[in-house]
Amino acid sequence: ANDNLFLALRQGFPEDLQACAIEVADAAAPLRYSWLDLERASAMLANWLEQLQLEPASRVLVQVDKSVEALTLYLAVLRAGHVYVPLNSAYQDAELAYFIEDAKPAVVVCAGRNFGWISKLAFTRGVPWVFTLNEDRSGTLLDRAQHMSDQHQVAHKRGSELAAILYTSGTTGRSKGAMLSHANLLSNAQVLKDLWAWRGEDVLIHALPIFHVHGLFVASHGALLAGARMLWVNRFDAATVLALLPRATVFMGVPTLYVRLLAERGLTPQHCAAMRLFISGSAPLLLETFRSWQERTGHTILERYGMSETLMLSSNPYDPQQRMGGTVGPALPGVGLRVVDDAGQPCAAEHIGHIQVRGPNVFSGYWCMPEKTAAEFSADGWFKTGDVGQLDAQGYLRIVGRSKDLIISGGYNVYPAEVEGFINELPGVAESAVIGAPHPDFGEAVVAVVVAQAGATPDAAQMLATLKQRIAGFKVPKQLLLVPELPRNAMGKVQKNLLRQQYQDLFA
Ligand code: ATP
Ligand code: MG
Repeated sequence: ANDNLFLALRQGFPEDLQACAIEVADAAAPLRYSWLDLERASAMLANWLEQLQLEPASRVLVQVDKSVEALTLYLAVLRAGHVYVPLNSAYQDAELAYFIEDAKPAVVVCAGRNFGWISKLAFTRGVPWVFTLNEDRSGTLLDRAQHMSDQHQVAHKRGSELAAILYTSGTTGRSKGAMLSHANLLSNAQVLKDLWAWRGEDVLIHALPIFHVHGLFVASHGALLAGARMLWVNRFDAATVLALLPRATVFMGVPTLYVRLLAERGLTPQHCAAMRLFISGSAPLLLETFRSWQERTGHTILERYGMSETLMLSSNPYDPQQRMGGTVGPALPGVGLRVVDDAGQPCAAEHIGHIQVRGPNVFSGYWCMPEKTAAEFSADGWFKTGDVGQLDAQGYLRIVGRSKDLIISGGYNVYPAEVEGFINELPGVAESAVIGAPHPDFGEAVVAVVVAQAGATPDAAQMLATLKQRIAGFKVPKQLLLVPELPRNAMGKVQKNLLRQQYQDLFA
């Protein structure tokens, strides 16, 4: 049998290949792609890659703006049996140099406007091929592929062979390349298809970038495997997405997308009447957002949890009554999930510890980092996620933060997410980040970095006084600093490592 993921996705296409597969919602002129278009365009691109006569499993490194053609290129790389390596389009010179050196790609595809500097980085590092692909369907890649046959024999792959390398977001340090196999991707896609009840009549609003797990795998695979249509949004814009909601059944977003949609007045239950599923992930969904969404739309957001190394791990149940805000739900079917103490022993229910996982979705290791890979697996084969959380008696997982962010102050463990939750509820607070700073007496002292709501001028001393009445003294920040904004990486995740650096001498 051929375990190439493309074959499984292709089997999901509906019988009527002339039907619309993808409609680009924010194109200047109406732009529709049929299933046949996806089939033929991916065949042509795969044929072009094949005639380059690359080594099997060559890396194809792609940094382009979001477009349907970029998705087609992903399918083509699978078809041709190579390894897809997508990069965040915000990455610049220093980052690209690192990723090219690390991934050692045979082909680099970039936006035409970046060809000058990226091709220089690539050619000086021995990359033989650099092509361009622009969001308006121009560029050398499509120019070359258009002369190729639209018939293509899907490359033979075993399930264990590499399909993609996904670089982690670099929130806790340098990005690592997670090696994902055809079987990793397919098993996860199938589990989610069943759990979330995907069907051919679904219409997905695809408004996420396609260089990470959420947009490329969870969203695209879901729709392709079900043969469901996508309303494709190249650049998220709340008004655009709002206008699409009456025609859609499924939406996936990161928490900030939900916050931005809530700011739209037209968001009402009537407007969302056709919708059956709102999914959130990639970062913690604040309870406030979860509740506001229920009030404004009548829908309960389904929060799920995953990462580059493992794809999806847990999901709230499909039954809205059983969804619980502030949790990421129970482990997915077939996924093992446990919470262990520092000694690696499973914790009792409700006890906080390190989240570990295993299953057919878990990656085989970090690209070119055998030591790092070995260090992140337990002796009995579980992957250490680096996240800290607790399981309740029903098996629902609650994430309380990352182990690298955990603060030990005066011998007490302080979980930043818990303290942030209390700070965010104070009047005038937009968001906050709680970190540990070296302290001569306590080892580490709790420090809160707070952003005020627009127009508000909350008082630090007042806030600390309120916190003292609500939480134990050892959790109350020793200092609370008001700042205009929090440092975020290209994925929008707060970079606590930068904050820790910035405030390392606060108590020196
Ligand atoms: P790096 O590993 O390079 O430091 P990263 O962990 O941010 O970066 P990703 O693999 O893109 O890179 O993100 C996975 C992480 O995102 C998870 O480990 C978890 O901390 C966080 N995450 C994902 N979904 C959720 C969620 N629903 N709630 C809270 N956190 C989440
Ligand atoms: Mg990580």
